Amino acid sequence: MRATVFLDRDGVINHRIMGGYVNHRDAFNLLPGVIQSMVWLSQRFRVAIVTNQQGIARGLTDPQFVRDLHADLERQVVEAGGQALEYFVCPHHRDAGCACRKPRAGLLNQAHEVEAVDWEKSFLVGDSDSDIAAGASKSVTTIKIGEQGEPAADYTAASLRDAIGIVERVSSR
Ligand SMILES: [Mg+2]
Ligand SMILES: [Zn+2]
Repeated sequence: MRATVFLDRDGVINHRIMGGYVNHRDAFNLLPGVIQSMVWLSQRFRVAIVTNQQGIARGLTDPQFVRDLHADLERQVVEAGGQALEYFVCPHHRDAGCACRKPRAGLLNQAHEVEAVDWEKSFLVGDSDSDIAAGASKSVTTIKIGEQGEPAADYTAASLRDAIGIVERVSSR
């Protein structure tokens, strides 16, 4: 069993595009301190990025673009001294009723199938209530980037960089 940090992507790793999709490189802009934060996390935890990308089902986001983008992000983290990342992507339309689109826990369950997750020692960092709902359903420690919503997260933080301090504190007790 591995302690895992689940990270939402848009709004946690990169700037969220309001009302649009990250479907070209210019739309993918990292938030401050993200690479260093992911290095730190990946040296201590398994890191699994769990992201809803319904632009794929809508034909607006090329799945190969997403894979290339994710490989590039991983390369940056590894080159900075971090470990490999894992990605779990829901490509389905919001109306498809799939098991993987957050707030459902399917992406977390997929990670668990690859390698058993130690839920008690795991975290989820997200900027949407649907992220927090997915994490809460598996009883991981949830950290909301931004303001508290419904369901309430266990903690809030201003950024992934700030969330690191919470992960460090909670995991060391
Ligand atoms: Mg998000
Ligand atoms: Zn799905």
